Amino acid sequence: MTTTEARPATMFDSLNPATGEVVASFRIDSAEDVALAVARARKAAVWWQAQGYKGRKRLLRKWRSIIASRLDEFAALMHRENGKPEIDALLELSLAIEHLDWASGSAKKVLGRRRVGSGLLAANQWASIEYMPYGVVGAIGPWNYPVFTPLGTISYALAAGNAVVFKPSEYTPAIGKWLVDTFAEVVKEPVFQLITGYGETGNALCTSGVDKLAFTGSTATGKRVMAACSATLTPVVIECGGKDAFIVASDADVDAAAEAALFGGMGNAGQTCAGVERVYAVASVYDAFVAKLAEGARKLRAGEDEGASYGPITMPSQIDIIKRHIDDAIARGGKAVVGGADSVQPPYVQPVILTDVPEDSSAVAEETFGPTITVKKVRDEREAIELANDSRYGLGATIYSAKKGREIADQLSCGCVAINSVLSFAMVPELPFGGVRDSGFGRIHGADGLREFSWPRSVTSTRFPAPIKLATFDRPANARSLTVKLVKTLWGRGGK
Ligand code: NAD
Repeated sequence: MTTTEARPATMFDSLNPATGEVVASFRIDSAEDVALAVARARKAAVWWQAQGYKGRKRLLRKWRSIIASRLDEFAALMHRENGKPEIDALLELSLAIEHLDWASGSAKKVLGRRRVGSGLLAANQWASIEYMPYGVVGAIGPWNYPVFTPLGTISYALAAGNAVVFKPSEYTPAIGKWLVDTFAEVVKEPVFQLITGYGETGNALCTSGVDKLAFTGSTATGKRVMAACSATLTPVVIECGGKDAFIVASDADVDAAAEAALFGGMGNAGQTCAGVERVYAVASVYDAFVAKLAEGARKLRAGEDEGASYGPITMPSQIDIIKRHIDDAIARGGKAVVGGADSVQPPYVQPVILTDVPEDSSAVAEETFGPTITVKKVRDEREAIELANDSRYGLGATIYSAKKGREIADQLSCGCVAINSVLSFAMVPELPFGGVRDSGFGRIHGADGLREFSWPRSVTSTRFPAPIKLATFDRPANARSLTVKLVKTLWGRGGK
């Protein structure tokens, strides 16, 4: 079927971005549908919490095993609905599975009750902290990494003891359904549910009374999500776009840097939130780097066949943005070292390498989300750092340098940095992932990611009567003099 005419107005089709074929049809869920799903989730959350860390770990690992054992089937669906090559889908799935495994195995250690020091004035107290699940978490996902990205939220929210209502992107609902259906093979209660539709359905989730909303998508939508959630004071975690810089230092292995920049910029057709979009190469290695990058880019090809390096642009409207950025770069004096305006061949965009593009051009300042890379020659690492930081985004960055990597990383104002590798920070389950400024706030992955979906509960319990009773109106007569003496003795000296 290649036509969408037959479906009713309450339904929408997800299409294969390479061929336009209908992959599947889905309901456009209304606010009432969303409210029902959240009500079901609220009951299921009580059951899920009652399973405890051990029970949830067992069930989440069963789910992990199902995903892992049906890897090929899932990768084929991802290729069909999202367009990415199956090998890229397999890589994405492998990473998502490892994160799911880590979250389920680490939740107790990170969130479980633990004793903390009680200080001197409350030395008679047994003080403890534990992290409680919110209840129902709403998750809104994008299409570019339709498994890894939402599971970066969902795995951690579930492991923390929450029920989840998930709205995948309208471009990848069948992938979202596959995840929810396989979870239901393990857990019969509606602990993890799917709702489908466009922005209005997502908005209904924001205002549905969920206890926390996890959004991953563009900055513009992130602002709308936050505004909607503010009406009910629903807390949010916002994971948005990026314009990640790649610094090639004077002591970089130029061949390795070019190979990494190419994969980070062109892999997944450049549709990576933390993908390489702008390169700053120090003058002494600039020519060699550009030559190597261009040589590599000329060997890449967008397409649907097995030999293609990457697939189509998943969201058709993004093609206009990519085209506008290339046109603006060239109109403003930029040089297309590889490709150019002609590289935009919907639904594909062939590789584009641009140099000498002004920093205020949209190709450098805005998220392009396509297989284009700008390269700028800089005097030294200091200038590279300044330009890398001069962005409204602050998600990730990459540095290639033999000796100066850590020193440069310490001066970058973004959430994640990879030295002498690309995107590796997202692969490590223990590392929190997220950005600053327009890239959003809050963290997924790691211990911070588990805590993002729980609230801390602090409890004190009296072990023995306080030596000086201060928290009473019936204080002893010498309370004042004892307090003054104690404080001066404990904290009145030193301070250097
Ligand atoms: P998008 O903002 O268009 O859509 C994201 C999701 O929000 C979709 O499910 C969409 O239906 C929903 N939505 C749209 N309007 C809404 C509204 N008013 N209220 C609630 N939900 C609404 O983003 P996209 O095009 O799907 O994804 C690409 C963007 O995601 C890029 O900017 C990319 O950088 C970003 N991204 C960020 C991360 C990260 O972890 N930081 C990961 C992947 C993608």
